[in-house]
Amino acid sequence: MASVNTAKPLAIVVLGGTALDTARRIQARYPDTRVHGLANRVAADIAYEDFGAHLRELYRANVPLVVLCSAGIVIRALAACLDDKCAEPPVLAVAQDGSAVVPLLGGMRGVNVLAREIAALFDIAPAITTSGELRFSQCLLAPPEGYVLADIERGKRFVSNLLAGETTRVEGHAPWLDRADLPRAVDATCVVRITPHVVDGDDSLPIHPRCVTAWIEDASNDCIERLRAGLRVHDLAPPALAAIAAPSSAMTSEWLAQAAEAFGVPLRFCERTPFDPAHALNGEGIAFDVAPGPVDATAIGHARGTLTVIGLGPGRADWMTPAAKHALAQAQDILGYETYVRMAGPFHADQHAHLTDNREELQRARHAFELASEGRRVVVVSSGDPGVFAMAAAVLEALDTGRVAHPEWDAVKLVVEPGVSASLGTAACAGAPLGHDFCVLSLSDNLKPWATIETRIAHAAQADLAMAFYNPLSKARPWQFDRAVEIVRQYRDAATPVVLGRNIGRPGERLRTVTLGELNGTLVDMRTMIIVGSSTTKVFSDWVYTPRWYA
Ligand code: SAH
Repeated sequence: MASVNTAKPLAIVVLGGTALDTARRIQARYPDTRVHGLANRVAADIAYEDFGAHLRELYRANVPLVVLCSAGIVIRALAACLDDKCAEPPVLAVAQDGSAVVPLLGGMRGVNVLAREIAALFDIAPAITTSGELRFSQCLLAPPEGYVLADIERGKRFVSNLLAGETTRVEGHAPWLDRADLPRAVDATCVVRITPHVVDGDDSLPIHPRCVTAWIEDASNDCIERLRAGLRVHDLAPPALAAIAAPSSAMTSEWLAQAAEAFGVPLRFCERTPFDPAHALNGEGIAFDVAPGPVDATAIGHARGTLTVIGLGPGRADWMTPAAKHALAQAQDILGYETYVRMAGPFHADQHAHLTDNREELQRARHAFELASEGRRVVVVSSGDPGVFAMAAAVLEALDTGRVAHPEWDAVKLVVEPGVSASLGTAACAGAPLGHDFCVLSLSDNLKPWATIETRIAHAAQADLAMAFYNPLSKARPWQFDRAVEIVRQYRDAATPVVLGRNIGRPGERLRTVTLGELNGTLVDMRTMIIVGSSTTKVFSDWVYTPRWYA
């Protein structure tokens, strides 16, 4: 595992296939990482289209970057974001053959530690240029996981004092500094203080172990101010807070969620106080426990489970919303029809993919609630948009019909994230055939009677709506599509343009335009989206559109 306090898994970015071996060697050292490669050029884990744009997106999302190309290319690509003080993840340039490792950015976030680790893989010396780090063979300002630097400006002053010849000593427990080559002296005035308490007004370097747990019994009002005040009463530094714990009955409290967000700590739920209340510090109705060292929040009770229903879009990675990508990256369990779960991958070792048959929707939705109510982060995937002939409705139906028997399902944080539906993806490729009023219809009679489908097609055709047909035809439904076309023809001209999109956004994508007169079941299958134009839909060169106006 990485010893660096980078919080997020690294992204290893390559341009060409020649760097892939080196990238995979680095990846093997950091199990949660993915290799990002230029689409159609490299067989990496994640494909990108535009190197600069992709690098900037990752950088802004605070993802530590190991880029296998020249330092100059990386610098030029990121130049436009360097002003943005909100993000400065570690960024390293690594020579394609692993012969040079150059830490570029993210000094406070452990870039040099990363550089040393990666350089060690290739048995070379990293190109470290930070003076404090060179002198002390350790960056004092990038403590490991579980510890936080109180104040960067103070930290910089401290390091320059040491560089100017001052001596130092460590107060408290800082095992990682044992290896550092510091100018130590028992009577030194520059003190590294490892403490959960606020340290003011001296030349010391305070580093807070994240060792404080707050127990909030009453979460019925603003917890942020109370937490701040409670910590202040005991002189505890807010960054020392490791977790907020609360009774399981308060799981849906927004006040708690806001407080956890504001302090950037995990929120955990337990049946009772997770520490001995007799030894707790109390303030503002909150009990604080101060452990001797960093606290592992995941060992306290359990989290509030989340269930996020996402759509992957039609297939192209860049047609997936950032919100859906984020949910996937956070997920512990991913459920869905096999094909879509595979599309959503690859996953890292501690993510569980649950593959199911396409027909078991309600059962899958119930399983998702069971997992989420154990405190897990669950994602249910659909293709396209999850609300269009897909899992979102099944998930809501499972909750609606199951919440009385399973009251714990109501405490799950349920979110539906929209996606690009196949009709919209296909329409965009063709131009704008859905530019005016339209309707979407599923031609599958698995879940509704065929007679209903016929009636709807007739009414939609009569209303002169453009129509997007999903699930057009399968082996079990061989004749229905031709019947549907026959109904449309009763109301619409044989010259009406029809867009056929097959595997849109996926390998083997095919888009064509035919006329309603030509349309028949031999031209379509279950991977096809059919868009039938209205009476105003037009075609010129390769484009199809339905104008905004209406006669
Ligand atoms: N939730 C999905 C639809 C699921 S129904 C969405 O919003 O897109 C499945 C049907 O969608 C398929 O039978 C096909 O008609 C259509 N479809 C899904 N992905 C497609 C793609 N990439 N290209 C063309 N049609 C697609």
